[in-house]
Amino acid sequence: MQALSLYSLVSKAARSVAAISLATAIAVSASVDAFAQGRVSVVRDAEIEALVRDYARPIFKAAGLRPGVSIILVNDRSFNAFVAGQRMFINTGALLQAETPNEIIGVIAHEAGHIAGGHQERLREQLARAQTMAIVAGLLGAGAIVAGAATKSGELAQAGGGIAMGGGEMARRGLLGYQRTEETTADRSAITYLAATGQSAKGMLTTFERFQSALSLSGARVDPYQISHPTPRDRISNLEQLAKNSPYYDRKDPPALQLRHDMMRAKIAVFTEGQGAVSRLFRKEPTGLAAQYGNAMATYLYGNARAALPKIDALLKQQPKNPYFHELRGDALMKTNQPAKAAESYARAVQLDQVKSGVLPISYGQALLAIGTPDSLKKAVTQIRTGLDRDRENATGYRYLAQAYGQLGDIAEAELATAEGHYYSGAYRDAKIFAARAQQKFKRGTPGWIRAQDIINSRQGTKKK
Ligand SMILES: [Zn+2]
Repeated sequence: MQALSLYSLVSKAARSVAAISLATAIAVSASVDAFAQGRVSVVRDAEIEALVRDYARPIFKAAGLRPGVSIILVNDRSFNAFVAGQRMFINTGALLQAETPNEIIGVIAHEAGHIAGGHQERLREQLARAQTMAIVAGLLGAGAIVAGAATKSGELAQAGGGIAMGGGEMARRGLLGYQRTEETTADRSAITYLAATGQSAKGMLTTFERFQSALSLSGARVDPYQISHPTPRDRISNLEQLAKNSPYYDRKDPPALQLRHDMMRAKIAVFTEGQGAVSRLFRKEPTGLAAQYGNAMATYLYGNARAALPKIDALLKQQPKNPYFHELRGDALMKTNQPAKAAESYARAVQLDQVKSGVLPISYGQALLAIGTPDSLKKAVTQIRTGLDRDRENATGYRYLAQAYGQLGDIAEAELATAEGHYYSGAYRDAKIFAARAQQKFKRGTPGWIRAQDIINSRQGTKKK
């Protein structure tokens, strides 16, 4: 399953902080472990990525920013969100804490205000060039520094510094910390974008108010976003006044969007907070579609995948064209060793997915790989390549691609795919080793040979650190 599977960070830098093993294909328990052990990892999920992109798109348009931003979901309970280049990083914790789409949209609007205002341009350029995984590793370093500062442990703070490219710089700049004037500018811009898109600024206010009350509690966990976005009382009151001036202040999110938001929260709760999280989350609405979805996912994850199937079919009766219900059905069928049926469900998910996520064809390819006939292996290569064309940095996809080629006996392509997987996980040394092996088997000048050469020549990972 690709939904919420994890990429552990396999770069050498990250390894020095925590013993990190390669993510397994089904990383459910790993995700719980990752939380327990404070590891940072990236979550890949077609449904959540599509929703957050829907939140961002109109705001970015109003801000005059380029569309086509990719969404990176960082598996972390704390509240954080920021944009680097064409990528938006957002913690799963922020999505889970936000009760309405509007609360997240407000944060996105505020972030868009920082970008449009040209705040921290130099740092942003650096982040835009860095590999996704290097930034996430940098966040881990920066997070460790915050923890170090909070506990006054200099040693811990040092351990976190310079852990990955950009990490030290981010730390020096106080975790993307903004100046007070920049905060005011971003608030004002955000209000403009929200008004232009007919949305309320109430959610943004709710989020910042929540931070303010959290900050006043001594000893409380400090979210990274609080550190980078100070919320003095006068800022909140100014924001409140501006928000209330808008004709859209009392406008609510459309019910269909709120439902997608609730289903997303159900998914994050099940995968990151465990089995009981869904009933806690939907105490007020225990029979709604989001609660049913959460219940089906919890049964699949913590109970019995076979017992989840009728629950998923009940969901599909209500929304037959929801690609993520078909995806979940595929996941459950994979877990019950029915790859041929799973492939059918994933194929339907791919077909119904309007936004063409790279994640879904890779899951489809994984099921075809599990069928294991020469014909299905060839189809697996096609599907996984489709996924990777849409989603170049999907390290898990390269792992399955390598397996498919390996089973087909194409060792050169298998080694090249392995090299790519290492490359996009930030393990540059291993990437170069496999690229060199692959290159020996390719004919000089062929596309595979050239791509292997690119990886060998890449300057990534050549810095001493
Ligand atoms: Zn800010």
